[in-house]
Amino acid sequence: MKNDWNTRTKLVHAGTRRSQYGEVSESIFMTQGFVYETAEDAEARFVALGDDEFIYARYGNPTVRMFEDRIAALEGAEDAFATASGMAAVSGALTSMLKAGDHVVSSRALFGSCLYILEEVLGRFGVSVDFVDGTDIEAWKAAIGPQTRAVFFESISNPTLEVIDIKAVSALAHEVGAIVVADNVFATPIFQRSLELGADVVIYSATKHIDGQGRALGGVILGTREFIRGTVEPYMKHTGGSMSPFTAWIMLKGLETLDLRCRAQAQSASAIAEAVQGNAAVSSVIYPFLKEHPQNALARAQMQKGGTMVSLDIKGGQAAAFRFLNALEVILISNNLGDAKSIATHPATTTHQRLTPEQRASLGIGDGLVRISVGIEDTDDLIWDIMNALKAV
Ligand SMILES: *Cc1c(COP(=O)(O)O)cnc(C)c1O
Repeated sequence: MKNDWNTRTKLVHAGTRRSQYGEVSESIFMTQGFVYETAEDAEARFVALGDDEFIYARYGNPTVRMFEDRIAALEGAEDAFATASGMAAVSGALTSMLKAGDHVVSSRALFGSCLYILEEVLGRFGVSVDFVDGTDIEAWKAAIGPQTRAVFFESISNPTLEVIDIKAVSALAHEVGAIVVADNVFATPIFQRSLELGADVVIYSATKHIDGQGRALGGVILGTREFIRGTVEPYMKHTGGSMSPFTAWIMLKGLETLDLRCRAQAQSASAIAEAVQGNAAVSSVIYPFLKEHPQNALARAQMQKGGTMVSLDIKGGQAAAFRFLNALEVILISNNLGDAKSIATHPATTTHQRLTPEQRASLGIGDGLVRISVGIEDTDDLIWDIMNALKAV
């Protein structure tokens, strides 16, 4: 039997488990627990779980396992653990492997909640964390040392779309035996194969492209079977951040169309970046596959497409950015990303509001910066919407 199916085939079929009824669409096993024929069966299952056996939904569930197996097949990972949100995945992956005295090196340009875990939580438990400019390989080299147990980064940063050189950073980490954890949300599992590039553990907020329709929170941790079942699972199943079966079903159905959606979104994102580049109202357009992006060559070496996010630096600061946002007719003002609906965000006053102006400046988040998550609407309509709103600036 052929088992090296291409991506779209895996996204539709991988991991499917059918009940005795032979249902076509994946079943939602909305059950917290499982019944045993005999007391001896119960005892045996608590001693060792067989291949298709479950005991409690916090530990595992058939619908959740389908999602884990399907995304592991997509990513090319040995195994996956599904979590209640993207943040449960980030905190679970890090906390399950770290202990007091360990050292972590992380890129500085992080999602606010990731920064909270690294800066506030880990420190309280005696883990020291150094932050570096993720685009500066010399800074990684200087920060990674014999004490370093883990290296963390968002492979494409939010909202300035900086690109981490995964191969180079992983090589430095592996020299000292550190585990490389990549938050790959912005790059998407469709456009970047982070494990092949050298990462050991890959994390997604499934809330973003995987659901892709703004319905549910979810996350997933991918890695070797030893890491997922030996390190992550015991921690997650006892601390409670597991995914619900209903959410897993939403994410399974999201995976079926993930490749189609991401490709349509990336095509529009690229067309938008080209159309806006050079517009008089904009001081810069940030898109990894634009030749003006400072890491264009690295982005093209690592990614199959430039992704679904475009950031615009609008001349005239916050007032001009707000005029632009308020003039949009199709694109929504909100703060999710990866959604079928296009969404515009003003990071300085929303997602990155809590940072000081100095911190924002060091991350390149100016008052005129607008982040656009490109959806699956008609490309020409999206370009019209953006060009029309830029006239209002
Ligand atoms: C959204 C996001 C998260 C957190 O995911 P939730 O599902 O909201 O918990 C983590 N990392 C990145 C890069 C994100 O965009």
